[in-house]
Amino acid sequence: MSGEHHSALQKLCRVCGNNVYKVKTPRQYKCYDHQTDLRETFGIDIVLDSLEPETYPTQFCHTCKNVIYCHKRALKNNREYTHKVTVKEWECHVEENCKICNPPSAPTIGRPKKLVKEGRPPLLSVPSLLKIQHPHRKSQNYGSTV
Ligand SMILES: [Zn+2]
Ligand SMILES: [Zn+2]
Repeated sequence: MSGEHHSALQKLCRVCGNNVYKVKTPRQYKCYDHQTDLRETFGIDIVLDSLEPETYPTQFCHTCKNVIYCHKRALKNNREYTHKVTVKEWECHVEENCKICNPPSAPTIGRPKKLVKEGRPPLLSVPSLLKIQHPHRKSQNYGSTV
């Protein structure tokens, strides 16, 4: 299953896709509480989101909240307001290189490579001569034969 994917979505803004905790004002707002705002400002229908809860975040960031605010205020004053937010297109989890589970900004932690040193030990260090000592010394056994 894609539990990792789902938990990654909990940190992302439904509108712009940024991490809601990595902006100037780390706050998040529930999409559910701003259904109309999201539809009128960004054209996002979160009712459709709820059909695929594994694909869409359920919160949005403070920056996007500000955009909603500006949009509302402009409407009140009969002014036009065009936001510059690119609404993120969300994709389902994919097994390989999922952009949500593996955001490109995060450093990928791999296994450290083993350092293999090749080469034989130098011949001089072979301790073959050490064992030979006093070849003339005989072990004398005075056998106590009866
Ligand atoms: Zn946002
Ligand atoms: Zn994923």
